[in-house]
Amino acid sequence: MQMKYDLPIKGMTCASCVARVEKIIGKMDNVKNVSVNLATERVSFESDKDAIDLKVISSAIKEYGYELVIDGTESQLNLSSINKVSDEDDEYYKNLKSEFLFALVFTIPIFLISMLMDYKFFQSFWIFNHDETRKILLILTTLVIFISGKRFYKIFWNNLKHFSAEMNSLVAIGTGAAYGYSVIATLFPYVINSDTHNIHVYFETAVVIITLILMGKLLEHRAKNKTTNAIKLLIELKPKTANIILNGEEKSISISGLSINNEVVIRPGEKIPADGKIISGYSSVDESMLTGESLPVEKNIGDNVFGGTINQNGTFNFLVTSIGDNSVLGQIIRMVEQAQSTKPPIQKLVDKIAGIFVPVVILIAIITFLSWLIFSPEHSFSNALINFVAVLIIACPCALGLATPTAIIVGTGLGASNGILIRNGESIEIANKISTIIFDKTGTLTEGKPKISEIISLGKDKRELLQLIASLESKSEHPIAKAILQKTKQEGIELFEPDSFQNYSGFGIAGLVNNKNVIAGNINLLKEFSINVEKGLSIYNELQESGKTIICISIDGEFSGILLVEDKLKSDSMEAVNYLKDMNIKTVMLTGDNKKSAERIANLLGISEFKAEVLPGKKADIVKEYQTKGEIVGMIGDGINDAPALAQADVGIAIGTGTDVAIETAQITLVKGNLTGVAKSIKLSQQTLKTIKQNLFWAFIYNTVLIPLAAFGMLNPMIAALAMSLSSVSVVTNSLRLKRAKLF
Ligand code: AMP
Repeated sequence: MQMKYDLPIKGMTCASCVARVEKIIGKMDNVKNVSVNLATERVSFESDKDAIDLKVISSAIKEYGYELVIDGTESQLNLSSINKVSDEDDEYYKNLKSEFLFALVFTIPIFLISMLMDYKFFQSFWIFNHDETRKILLILTTLVIFISGKRFYKIFWNNLKHFSAEMNSLVAIGTGAAYGYSVIATLFPYVINSDTHNIHVYFETAVVIITLILMGKLLEHRAKNKTTNAIKLLIELKPKTANIILNGEEKSISISGLSINNEVVIRPGEKIPADGKIISGYSSVDESMLTGESLPVEKNIGDNVFGGTINQNGTFNFLVTSIGDNSVLGQIIRMVEQAQSTKPPIQKLVDKIAGIFVPVVILIAIITFLSWLIFSPEHSFSNALINFVAVLIIACPCALGLATPTAIIVGTGLGASNGILIRNGESIEIANKISTIIFDKTGTLTEGKPKISEIISLGKDKRELLQLIASLESKSEHPIAKAILQKTKQEGIELFEPDSFQNYSGFGIAGLVNNKNVIAGNINLLKEFSINVEKGLSIYNELQESGKTIICISIDGEFSGILLVEDKLKSDSMEAVNYLKDMNIKTVMLTGDNKKSAERIANLLGISEFKAEVLPGKKADIVKEYQTKGEIVGMIGDGINDAPALAQADVGIAIGTGTDVAIETAQITLVKGNLTGVAKSIKLSQQTLKTIKQNLFWAFIYNTVLIPLAAFGMLNPMIAALAMSLSSVSVVTNSLRLKRAKLF
């Protein structure tokens, strides 16, 4: 059996950590598809074996200074694990904050003294007397280095043991070099220069870098926490208690005690505790938290209600149908969590680059150092050292690691609050390129609730006609069958038990009812059975103009009647198509209906192309046809028979009111059958990808433009530390801006 793991991991700081952890875990036996997300600080992987020893993995990565959090619930992402991580996050944040404040308190005097000691005026004061001052600076700096800077050196050391390096190594080497040189200059000045008064120390450089980088991490962590707000808000939707009827009496119980089939009482303004079906009363319910739709939805007996939504002004009782992770809210949370921990292809490339970035930077820094020492006119060791430090500090690839995941998290969160669930990061990247959208007509563009609008007899009694086909339709699952049965129920017509039944998918049905051969379906089915259709052909041709579905009926080999079935268009179908047209996306409609009615509907909605009389099994082939023409296809469907087409499409979009199979196969789910969600999800993916690209630009530009500047001695290491910290903060802030993106 295949197992999926998703675990929190601590101690990662930058893009190169991501590459490293993936590499270490990827090398372990029976482990595959390792993916690390820096923003959520989680690692996911799969294993072929039933159980793998997580402790082995944990100790392997511990060697490098990372910690895998194993708590026994690791096989699934769950709500409690998210809560737990945020507690641990708090601790991480608290430590970071105290280390930063400690560093700051000492850095201010160190910085001031260092600046002022070079001025003659101040040198007359004892504290600015060079030899003594250096010793004071040495003591203060040592405290900062060992207390606030400890985290950098610890990770550096762990990595060094394995001949590897990452962002912390750059900070550690940079500050360590400035500090080490200054310590020697203070304690053994004659080693550096015989004129011991003319020696410069760089204590302030070391501490300012540590303080600024800690500050950057602090700001980045605060902003990063905000990116996961969407999922936290979803989790908070979960109510804590429910009022149930137990032995005829009402009782308030905790949500964990709730079980399937409990009868729950809901009063005005209350939050609905679980999914269920209304058995008495009526109301309207605000479902905006799940669907993004702001108008409350009317609910009557028999209607479904969903956990986490809020009742408006009525009172009703409902029977619980699903709870916890199986509820709609539970599934939404799981899907968003999973999406947030996946990577789009663009990130895989970034991770690869980041993996080799650090060693390359160290090399550039060494070349810088040697060049200054050998080729500069003064051959100054201290100039060489300071530029070496500047190169190391400016090149930290922190922002690079945050560029993609933070944007994905905010993007998927924004989607969830608009009723759009995106399965993974890859879908976001592909959805952005969709050039053709194919709609399945029934249940997607239409409401999927067909009604009989007319019965035309070609000789037989209408009631008898209805009785015969309804009896046969009682064996069919087709929505048309439901419409016909509803009609016979309304008219109080009794049904026969058919003696035989055959379904011709995409054509209709045939069988023996009350000793009569009954065929109901499209005209091709009748032709297939060699029925002479001449008799009703002129009526048939006329009816085709109506745009409704035509069911031809044959009784005992004779064309005996026609049923007209109407399936209303969804109220937002036209708007949805218009949005897509505005975005220059081609729209295509697929239907099993005849050409004429398909054409009418396509024209009505302004759909550019349509395919009529499509057999259910052929939908996937049509998707493929468009793909071979070079189109990137998004397929929208709801039924079980749409699943192959959804899977074939570059991006499958399922209508949330549809079947579970469709939702399982699709990459994007529109929670409410809201069709404008199609254009919105494409827009969302475009905005998210734009943010990712902007982020990558900012992250790379800091490094690539400023590295040469640092190498040529034009960048003070302290300014480099500031720029480096700001680059991470600006990347995360840019991702947060996506929260306010307009999706139409
Ligand atoms: P579908 O591909 O399922 O939409 O079916 C295509 C066409 O076949 C429909 O428009 C109907 O004309 C006919 N059809 C399919 N199933 C049935 C049924 N159970 N009863 C009557 N007609 C059917």
